[in-house]
Amino acid sequence: MIFDTHIHLNDKKIFSNLDQYLKEASDMRVTCFMCVGWDVESSKKAIEIAEKYENVYCAIGVIPTEHKQYKTKEENCPTINELENLLKVSRKIKAIGEIGLDYYWEKELEIKEKQKEMFKEQIELANKYNLPVSIHCRDAVQDTFDILKINKVDNTGVMHCFSGSKEMAKEFVKLGYYLAFGGVLTFKNAITTKEVIASIPLERVVFETDAPYLAPVPFRGKLNEPKFIFHTVKYASDLLNLDFESLQKTSFHNSCKLFHVKNYE
Ligand SMILES: [Zn+2]
Repeated sequence: MIFDTHIHLNDKKIFSNLDQYLKEASDMRVTCFMCVGWDVESSKKAIEIAEKYENVYCAIGVIPTEHKQYKTKEENCPTINELENLLKVSRKIKAIGEIGLDYYWEKELEIKEKQKEMFKEQIELANKYNLPVSIHCRDAVQDTFDILKINKVDNTGVMHCFSGSKEMAKEFVKLGYYLAFGGVLTFKNAITTKEVIASIPLERVVFETDAPYLAPVPFRGKLNEPKFIFHTVKYASDLLNLDFESLQKTSFHNSCKLFHVKNYE
């Protein structure tokens, strides 16, 4: 069994054919999903899907690249209140995410500061509701780490699509975080990612698709489908020289622990 710890079933590219995609995934033994929001609307959609399918959980939050639509506590009708209201409607919300920092698209200091504010407010919300976080971090590893170190998340969380160095991976593991590996792991040039997965303790390894993005080899560049996670886990088991079955089991167990959900097998 495989747990996809980061997927956008709420993206219209997948959503339009959800029953079919989930059926195909379950045929490949992908039995559990964490559907992740990136703004308020997609978070609502994630909840809707999680309420419909027993084996789908969800995370709600606003991604740093959506800083324009996020209103901080200083502004009128702060976004954090909308997110908090959502937390009251569903028991399937098992994380706050995806939240974090993204300096790849944004180089302006003012925007970086706004992203930090969004990040901290959402961490506070996670702690208020005893939830872990799902972290989006692009070209901002050090700042992300600094914020998580000072603004501790009681239930820690997961570094989604981790792209930092071996050294930084070690630091996040020390802070109590899990690292999620997706299609990028299978890319020929992703040397650092391969080093990272081989260097951290197995009990902190989880898998994800980030579908509809970042399809693994041999589907690289195509629409990523929920069932394709199978190829990523298989690739990892070959890379780490581990039995495929036992890596599935271990990473599944890790994912359940990360999100505090019962063990679906
Ligand atoms: Zn994502």
